[in-house]
Amino acid sequence: MTPPALPPTVAAHVPTGILIDGAWRPAASGRTFTVSDPGTTESLFDVADAGSDDALDALTAASNAFPEWRATAPRVRSELLRAVFETITARTEDIAALVTAEGGKPLAESRAEVAYGADYIRWYAEQAVRFEGLARRAPSGTNHQLVLRRAVGPALLITPWNFPIAMIARKVAPALAAGCSVVIKPAQLTPLTTAYVAEIIRAELADRGLPTGVINVLPSASARSISGPLLSDPRLRKLSFTGSTEVGSALLKASADTVLRTSMELGGNAPFLVFEDADIDAAVTGAVQAKMRNAGQTCVAANRFLVHASVAEEFTAALTVAFDKLVVGHGADEGVTVGPLIEEAAVDRVQEVVAEAVDGGARVRIGAERPDRAGYFYNPTVLDRVSPDLRVITEETFGPVAPVVTFGSEDEAVALANSTPFGLVAYAYTRDIGRVLRLAESVDTGMLGVNRGLVSDASAPFGGVKSSGLGREGGEAGIEEYLDSVYVAI
Ligand code: NAD
Repeated sequence: MTPPALPPTVAAHVPTGILIDGAWRPAASGRTFTVSDPGTTESLFDVADAGSDDALDALTAASNAFPEWRATAPRVRSELLRAVFETITARTEDIAALVTAEGGKPLAESRAEVAYGADYIRWYAEQAVRFEGLARRAPSGTNHQLVLRRAVGPALLITPWNFPIAMIARKVAPALAAGCSVVIKPAQLTPLTTAYVAEIIRAELADRGLPTGVINVLPSASARSISGPLLSDPRLRKLSFTGSTEVGSALLKASADTVLRTSMELGGNAPFLVFEDADIDAAVTGAVQAKMRNAGQTCVAANRFLVHASVAEEFTAALTVAFDKLVVGHGADEGVTVGPLIEEAAVDRVQEVVAEAVDGGARVRIGAERPDRAGYFYNPTVLDRVSPDLRVITEETFGPVAPVVTFGSEDEAVALANSTPFGLVAYAYTRDIGRVLRLAESVDTGMLGVNRGLVSDASAPFGGVKSSGLGREGGEAGIEEYLDSVYVAI
């Protein structure tokens, strides 16, 4: 198959097999599945389709490598991660081309994702030598207490398609820094970037004489044939999942039998609050960022625009003008600012929720249509007069649609913001610092962006409350997910 959107220099270096114990190989079944470019619908590569036998082989490799990796000096683990960071950064253009080819996002966004993903690897290279324990005299005075930190063990890392380098970097970097070995199950729709990055890590391990079973990768078209046998195997000690709340909840249930350590980065339904004292120009700039990154397909995408009635028309009109300037097209084409959705079903779903909103009385300010071109595109859309009980508000749209709902008071805004089972992130535009502090106390989310459309940072704890998840990625907290405490009474 000829990969049309990929420079041949990149295409020649994309592993399409399964990585187990330092070697890329075909699936035990011999099966493959096809990865396509959502901007053209054309096929890119056939990739090995791992099944349960491969999954168990990968876990065997990870558990065999774990004791040596856990005992490896933190400085050595740190230097390995630093070298991986340097290589990824040096190959930004190639990796960005791959991210765009399999995921569709515009090249500028793909480059930003590479930098953002690499930043987690750098951060955990720095943290690998800094995790701390405790030593103290017991309050009774009769003995001393030591608390040591120890790697949890082999970890299964399952990632979604929307950030094929960043999502895996946020897991693999703290896992390796802590001393865990890993089995990675990338998303079926975008396994190529993960394979490319895993090969960089494999090569660094091999060059340094470190155990190659530390990283194993299982692309698969049947996720359950991977998670099923691994979650019931007592050798697996940790699951870190990013994806939908529905799948996360099923995996939590499946993890109960072995009482597995789990972290869950799940769905969002972010409110974007614009108060009467907001800088409207800044709010519009932030709204475009928070809504349109990856064509609206991010867990932190602003899903509901809650705007004070007194500034609603000014904000909505300016947002409509800003959306009108966006350029929809193939992510590799010059000047494009909005790429395709990931697959046909995603476009169908967006069309459905928009049609339902319009039937329910919403007004289309711009968009609400599919452009006439190949690929899974949908035009940037602004809706106002939207009733808050419609699915475009109550569910994660995962597309380039901005529905505007008005409110009359701060209390009403907070009640609307909290009227969802999700709690990943909220955005608020206001000049009132007192209000900012009240919102930080009252809006039920794990993160709050204040006068900013972007919150995520490798050095800060990313994660949600309520149905948006358990645990944090990034910052000092991210490595805790891969460490146990061992209390020693002396
Ligand atoms: P998804 O839940 O469908 O899939 C995520 C991963 O789980 C994929 O690798 C998939 O193959 C795998 N999977 C699916 N069913 C499985 C099963 N039964 N057992 C084991 N693995 C299974 O999600 P998606 O469509 O890839 O991603 C979009 C979702 O991810 C959105 O809800 C988005 O909000 C969420 N997300 C959350 C974050 C976060 O940090 N909170 C980040 C990115 C995406």
